[in-house]
Amino acid sequence: MDTTFEATATKYIEEHGDRDLRQIITDKIPEGGDMRPFYIANLDDIVNKHKRWEKLMPRVKPFYAVKCNNTEPVVKTIAALGAGFDCASSSEFQQVLKYGVQTDRIIYAHTCKDPEELKRASELGVDLMTFDNEDEIVKIKRLFPDAKLVLRIVPQVRKAVYDMGKKFGCNVEDCQGLLLKAKELELNVIGISFHGGSKCQDAFAYQHTILLCRDIFDLAKTIGFNFNLLDIGGGFPGYETGEHSFFSDIANTINDSLEEYFPEDENVKVIAEPGCYYVESAFTLALRVIARKVEQPGKWLKIEDSENEDDTKKSFMYYLNDGLHGSFFFHILFEDDVPDFYVVENKDSMPVFKSSLWGPTCNPHDCITQEIELPELDIGDWLYVPNMGAYTTVVVTSFNGMPTPKIHYIASNDIICELGLQRNEFTTVN
Ligand code: PLP
Repeated sequence: MDTTFEATATKYIEEHGDRDLRQIITDKIPEGGDMRPFYIANLDDIVNKHKRWEKLMPRVKPFYAVKCNNTEPVVKTIAALGAGFDCASSSEFQQVLKYGVQTDRIIYAHTCKDPEELKRASELGVDLMTFDNEDEIVKIKRLFPDAKLVLRIVPQVRKAVYDMGKKFGCNVEDCQGLLLKAKELELNVIGISFHGGSKCQDAFAYQHTILLCRDIFDLAKTIGFNFNLLDIGGGFPGYETGEHSFFSDIANTINDSLEEYFPEDENVKVIAEPGCYYVESAFTLALRVIARKVEQPGKWLKIEDSENEDDTKKSFMYYLNDGLHGSFFFHILFEDDVPDFYVVENKDSMPVFKSSLWGPTCNPHDCITQEIELPELDIGDWLYVPNMGAYTTVVVTSFNGMPTPKIHYIASNDIICELGLQRNEFTTVN
């Protein structure tokens, strides 16, 4: 997806004050012509997240997982903030190197690498990388013997929306064998990594797994390795719901665990690979009803407070201009991850009806949700969906020739100046 072509950043917030998101979206709805879905991407939000991370987890250096959202202004902003990067391919290395990020700020966090990509990493000097199996270390020995290796283990997690453990990481019982093999091959293993699974909903997963890592550090010592890197992966929440901050809980748990199992005087470097955390709340998607079907009576949802009996009996199928092959790929893949939809034109006081939301393509599986309550919408009405910055823009396709979303970037003057971003690289929003 070409994300730079419509990139816009502006002193919008500064000029207009802290405006209602609904108002910002309304201002961006085109009068006619190009009616593609669009994103409002707020770079200030990313900067605030970074500052919050540094405040709440000062010992843990974030390496942003660029796979999560690789739009140029986002990567450039995070590079300017001084974070490191988790990359999974040579094109991701190149993207971040372009912004002056040195190779010591990159981890090649893919445990099953394409040999050609590994050669590229060697040429570029990206030498910090993960592994979780014997074939991989044999491959690394052949193609990049000086690499600094990080053994990825399966974490101890009870609940995460996207579980990684089936595909990546070795079981604790296999660590000894792998470390012995690495020693035999004279490879340089320097630490341990894990990933709690995206949207990890289990703060204690970090505590349990950090304790496990301590045991593996000790085991490694008996084999002749002196580990100095702990990588606690990603999985941190990209937005908070309600008053309580789950991220603070996780941060406190991690800080306590580090203090207990990896006291500072041991000089173990601690890094993490947050993706969602940095970008999810920064992007709001606006999309449009392009068609609808009114469903037959009989399936109706009874709305107690409606005065119009007929109205209470309608239900709707809405066809939207974004879906499975666009921004909602991951939401649909993991069924219980339906985001919140809001109507741009305020219809809060109107009765709601049982509705389903469908994407624009001919694929019958292109359905965002079978069940949502919405006020009656007309063709042409716009909806918006907050918290759409993670694993959305990166997976958009133009399947069926459907138009891909534009992105309007907004940023305050302060942020543009603070990060040394070039205003003339962006178009002004208003
Ligand atoms: N690190 C690795 C190795 C990953 O595979 C991912 C996501 O796929 C991340 C970090 C980022 O995870 P999250 O977006 O949940 O923070």
